[in-house]
Amino acid sequence: MAGGEPPANLSAQLPLAAHTTWKVGGPAEWFGEPSSEEELHAMARWAWERGLPWRLIGAGSNLLISDSGLAGLTLCSRRLQGSQLDASTGLVEARAGEPIPTLARRAARAGLSGLEWAVGIPGTVGGAVAMNAGAQGGCTAEVLRDVTVVAPDPGSVPFILPASSLEFAYRHSRLQEEPLLVLSARFQLSAGHDPRAIDRRTSANLQSRTGTQPYHLPSCGSVFRNPEPLKAGRLIEELGLKGCTVGGAMVSPMHANFIVNTGEATAAQINRLIERVQERVRQAHGLELHPEVKRLGSFDRATMSD
Ligand SMILES: Cc1cc2nc3c(=O)[nH]c(=O)nc-3n(C[C@H](O)[C@H](O)[C@H](O)COP(=O)(O)OP(=O)(O)OC[C@H]3O[C@@H](n4cnc5c(N)ncnc54)[C@H](O)[C@@H]3O)c2cc1C
Repeated sequence: MAGGEPPANLSAQLPLAAHTTWKVGGPAEWFGEPSSEEELHAMARWAWERGLPWRLIGAGSNLLISDSGLAGLTLCSRRLQGSQLDASTGLVEARAGEPIPTLARRAARAGLSGLEWAVGIPGTVGGAVAMNAGAQGGCTAEVLRDVTVVAPDPGSVPFILPASSLEFAYRHSRLQEEPLLVLSARFQLSAGHDPRAIDRRTSANLQSRTGTQPYHLPSCGSVFRNPEPLKAGRLIEELGLKGCTVGGAMVSPMHANFIVNTGEATAAQINRLIERVQERVRQAHGLELHPEVKRLGSFDRATMSD
């Protein structure tokens, strides 16, 4: 392992709650918000060379980070914003930290169809690719052409992975298992549409979500994957679990597959509520609900307080 000082722009012991949409999570041992792809690679390399654990997060909208925080280096892509759209060919290139709703709106204005479903997903382009985010019948895999990625090791240079090699499945890509940083993504959208029509569809999608999902409280969207053909939300609702709480964490009375932070929830409380819901569904139906949300850090029972 190499010695030496950490890069000047890394922070130590930075609270991560502000970097997740659930607004929970303890400190990152080291935290960096690079403002260029080169800086991102340099920071990841710094951790790699020291054998430190590292991860890259986007908007933290699909993460439950433990109250004790995360060891090693946590990188956040949110300064890596920007996109280029070609209204004649439909080719769109976006940097990893570009908010996916911003991209959806820009595409609509350019008369490009294919991202109308993405407007209500509060994540980044990198997170949408890694998670194969989707909604209202659309998903990332359907419109992604390729991604530019880089590995953290010193010898690695950025390279392009075609969408067909990402092993996309329901809310899954191989990027969830491999230590690769998504730097940018290219989407192939359909060109030549009336921008007003695309914009209307995009806005209608957003409206239908805000009418049925609790966007006014911190959450991470749907907590559980749907056990197809069943819907997780329906199963949870039928067991009367809407409004069920553990501390400040509550199964949303509006949408049973959402757990909201009513103000002072801890990650341990949210995790306990996740387990409680799983237990009830298991008892009633013999079914295992699998979280869609990614848990990072330590969640052993000894650290939990209800
Ligand atoms: C109100 C609300 C509604 C939601 N609705 C939906 C929905 O309808 N459909 C849906 O699919 N999701 C939904 N989500 C969940 C979430 O927004 C998506 O999963 C989103 O794609 C996550 O993006 P992110 O940037 O926040 O990623 P994060 O949560 O920060 O990270 C998620 C995963 O992606 C990885 N990752 C992030 N950026 C990169 C990168 N640049 N390179 C490599 N890996 C990366 C992380 O390491 C992590 O494993 C919702 C969330 C909320 C809060």
